[in-house]
Amino acid sequence: MVHVGIGYDVHALVEGRKLILGGVEIPHHKGLDGHSDADALMHAICDAILGALGEADIGHFFPNTDPRWKGAASRVFLREAARLVELRRGGIVNVDATVIAQEPKIFPHIQAMKLRIAEALGLAPERVGIKATTNERMGFIGREEGIAAMAVASVDLP
Ligand code: MG
Repeated sequence: MVHVGIGYDVHALVEGRKLILGGVEIPHHKGLDGHSDADALMHAICDAILGALGEADIGHFFPNTDPRWKGAASRVFLREAARLVELRRGGIVNVDATVIAQEPKIFPHIQAMKLRIAEALGLAPERVGIKATTNERMGFIGREEGIAAMAVASVDLP
């Protein structure tokens, strides 16, 4: 039976951090703040997969108080989510996500993000959808104070 899950994440944009989204370093004067590499896109996808499994969220598996995850590359979290699917003898059907960022332009990096995410999940890139939108200059995202991502995942479970 196919199960679906939803995920959402947001991180603040600050000076002095690298901007990493979907495992890709994007040239920008600000980056996302967080305990790990703060890859909001990978975190949202991770939560979507965990949600499809009926599991707790990413913060439960990888607490931001644990020094092991300080500065961690978020593909580690995606790999763990994929491993949990395997343990249940399931398979990820597809994931789809939207990045919400006012700046910088995300579109030029989408293909590279798809490849990184597909690789971390052990999926064909065609099973990974990534889209991007601005927030039309409204709210905290529109003021470039943060970047958000939302995702869904479908997982076939026996
Ligand atoms: Mg996060």
